[in-house]
Amino acid sequence: MKTKGEYIESLKKQKPEIYMFGEKIEDRINHPLLKPQIDVLAFTYELARDPRYEHLTTATSHLTGEKINRFTHIQQSNEDLVKKVQMTRLYARYCCCIQRCMAIDALNTLSITTWLSDKKYGTNYYDNFIEYMKWFQKEDVCATGAMTDVKGDRKLRPADQADPDLYVRIVDRNDEGITVRGAKCHTTAAIPANDIIFLPTRAMRKEDKDYAVAFALPVDAEGMKFIARSTVPKRTSKMDRPFGQRWGVTETLTILQDVFVPWNRVFMAGEWELAGQVAEGFGVYHRHSYCGCKPAVTDMLSGTAALIAEYNGVDHASHIQGKLTDLACTAEQMYACGITGSVRGKPMGPGTYIPDITYVNIGKYIAGTHIYEEIYRVHDIAGGFAVTCPSGADFENPETRPDLEKYMKGKAEIPSEDRMKAFKLVEDLTAHGFAGWLMVASCHGGGSPEAQRITINRGYDWETRKKIAKVLAGIEPFEAFPEFKE
Ligand SMILES: Cc1cc2nc3c(=O)[nH]c(=O)nc-3n(C[C@H](O)[C@H](O)[C@H](O)COP(=O)(O)OP(=O)(O)OC[C@H]3O[C@@H](n4cnc5c(N)ncnc54)[C@H](O)[C@@H]3O)c2cc1C
Repeated sequence: MKTKGEYIESLKKQKPEIYMFGEKIEDRINHPLLKPQIDVLAFTYELARDPRYEHLTTATSHLTGEKINRFTHIQQSNEDLVKKVQMTRLYARYCCCIQRCMAIDALNTLSITTWLSDKKYGTNYYDNFIEYMKWFQKEDVCATGAMTDVKGDRKLRPADQADPDLYVRIVDRNDEGITVRGAKCHTTAAIPANDIIFLPTRAMRKEDKDYAVAFALPVDAEGMKFIARSTVPKRTSKMDRPFGQRWGVTETLTILQDVFVPWNRVFMAGEWELAGQVAEGFGVYHRHSYCGCKPAVTDMLSGTAALIAEYNGVDHASHIQGKLTDLACTAEQMYACGITGSVRGKPMGPGTYIPDITYVNIGKYIAGTHIYEEIYRVHDIAGGFAVTCPSGADFENPETRPDLEKYMKGKAEIPSEDRMKAFKLVEDLTAHGFAGWLMVASCHGGGSPEAQRITINRGYDWETRKKIAKVLAGIEPFEAFPEFKE
């Protein structure tokens, strides 16, 4: 396993082509709007060595028997799935989006689909995958998953788009490898990564077969370009953006301009019938990750709301307690879906454990549809200072500090400075910049709510439910009551 320092050194050896806010970025490690994101990923190397959490943050490789970072592990049991959800909630309580989940969710998916492809088509993607995985675990590679294509007109399938490059596709192939063109979007954590794993984003038809492509590339592959943006605010008073300045997220438009991929890094190249399974498999693993990170987001929100209620002297009020309890229920419902999905997970393909599709989709669906209500509750509890609290810079200014000390007082025994800090955290998490990211990430990250609703509906056993109703209504006899198989 790499140390945090070794991870940073590994980034220095690669020179990806990055643009952000109208500039070419030469130093991705020390740039003030990117460093807070590097810090998030570095944390995954740090906590893997913390004796308090090693049981969650590390695993044993099924390929080599070595101790590895759990973010490089292929799930081997229900216990592994449970630990992944627990680990994700642990990390996300510190920094919200831990960002190393996309890659491992993509790799777990590929461990199944490459195996299925070799069985069905006689390809050798699973061998490629295993060799890649051994290297990935040994080097403790920091990677991300790029699945979402830019997609053009949503009504049209890949091959029917006016511009054929709106989904990533193979434009050439030879004995050495394939050449790919197109763009992925919303790619979280490409900037702090060593490698990027590309997957098809949807089911494909025969005429879309060039779009059924999965592969891995180093971030500095020739012809790959990133156009990034960052959640990190330009420099402000430290008090004003306590979270947003400390931890960051970037997403990139990830452009592939005829990039060559050698065969040993190709995991699908034209097997269009399996593309849907890749998209669905990634959806399951990634929504499982959300069942860990989204309860942690609610932990942050509910903790902040409970603190401000205490500082304002309203923590005793029954309506405040009721709203805080609603937040607790949301967090624990999502987490319960993650744990249940883990416990009910099953082995697939070569024995990789995949979580229960229905439960993890319900967990992510709750996250996407409840976030706005959660934020409303925090606003309601916090009051108007959620957005009107004067800046930390004015607290530091001797001309205004005495006024703020006096008039920003809530409960007498709480220092005004602490109360202002708590309001600024409310503002940072729910009302400015990062807060907008948090809402949209909860809604669309891991797939839009409708994608989960469709999956839940499709997999749910409606016939059993209808049968129950028929017996209860007297349409069918009591003996017809369906067997309990949950
Ligand atoms: C913060 C954030 C981080 C992300 N990180 C990553 C990442 O690291 N890697 C990655 O691969 N992806 C990532 N995503 C992408 C995420 O999975 C997508 O945003 C999500 O799948 C929705 O796709 P879209 O953004 O293209 O929206 P759209 O697909 O345009 O969806 C917008 C709306 O249109 C609806 N819609 C779309 N197509 C149809 C159709 N054919 N018929 C009917 N309705 C339709 C959707 O249900 C939704 O309501 C991230 C997203 C966010 C917001």
